[in-house]
Amino acid sequence: NHIANQIAAGEVVQRPASAVKELIENSIDAGATAIDLIVKDGGKTLIQVIDNGCGMSENDARMSFERHATSKIATADDLFHLQTKGFRGEALASVAAIAHVELKTKLHAEELGTQICVEGSKIKSQEPVQANNGTSISVKNLFYNIPARRNFLGSNITEYKHVLNEFLRVALVHPEVHFTFHNNGDEIYNLPPAGLRQRIVHAFGKNYNSRLVPVQETTDIFSVTGFIVKPEFARSSRDQMYLFVNNRFFKDKYLNHAIQSAFEGMISSKKYPAYFLYFTVPTTSIDVNVHPTKTEIKFENNKEIYAILRSAVKQAIGQYNI
Ligand code: ADP
Ligand code: MG
Repeated sequence: NHIANQIAAGEVVQRPASAVKELIENSIDAGATAIDLIVKDGGKTLIQVIDNGCGMSENDARMSFERHATSKIATADDLFHLQTKGFRGEALASVAAIAHVELKTKLHAEELGTQICVEGSKIKSQEPVQANNGTSISVKNLFYNIPARRNFLGSNITEYKHVLNEFLRVALVHPEVHFTFHNNGDEIYNLPPAGLRQRIVHAFGKNYNSRLVPVQETTDIFSVTGFIVKPEFARSSRDQMYLFVNNRFFKDKYLNHAIQSAFEGMISSKKYPAYFLYFTVPTTSIDVNVHPTKTEIKFENNKEIYAILRSAVKQAIGQYNI
């Protein structure tokens, strides 16, 4: 049903940045090694993601817009061992319910690709086309058919900032992937494939080369790797507090506090530490099966993790101070 579709879509896609996240994650899942993100007006007018991933057959391309058409869960057990980012089969259906979507995709082995245009969940056209290997999806006029939602969006600049945040979060988890990002024709980022340290330097500036201090700790329940930024380069906002668990960005005030307390006395109370920390935990010890747009994660052992994290960061600071 049309209205139910739109309501469900608004749950998954709250703003251009959420569509950006879903599209880029699909490209990653498709094994892309190069991903281009192009937006106009902070994504309100256009969001386009072009990848060189596996592409889709004509049939899969059509199917991809059906709700719960995921190619990523074969058994219920898979839910507990999520390898891929997408697991709900809702993103494309949702986007297609509330925007003008053009999909162009080609399997590497095929001569011709498929182009499909969808508006408000209705397939408007489908035809074979010349196409590059991989997939290009354009999402135009997000929320065109839900004026209340469209009016609720922030300014172009506000939406652009949200898109930029999503872009950086994915780029920081996949340094091996070549990413570019354009907004209104301007190149914002061109991030060549790299290691993590170099990816951070490419994304945040050459001076990060000398600001990053490695963090590394492994225990039975939890391991952390990544970098903290030296305390003298603490930020005046919370904009570079990056935490990832099993390659997903998440927010966690409790764990932020663990890190902040490791920096105690080294950072003024008006400043915030900057960090890029990657946790690995057994998939059975966290709850990720929450709402797709949520960035909170529940840890089974969060007290232990707090303590290990705090001491790992302290140790990193100690080493750099010697
Ligand atoms: P999910 O990612 O949860 O499976 P989506 O709605 O995001 O659901 O995508 C539906 C399906 O469309 C995916 O399972 C995948 O098979 C296909 N698909 C989507 N985007 C791409 C892409 N960029 N490259 C290849 N296949 C894709
Ligand atoms: Mg997906």
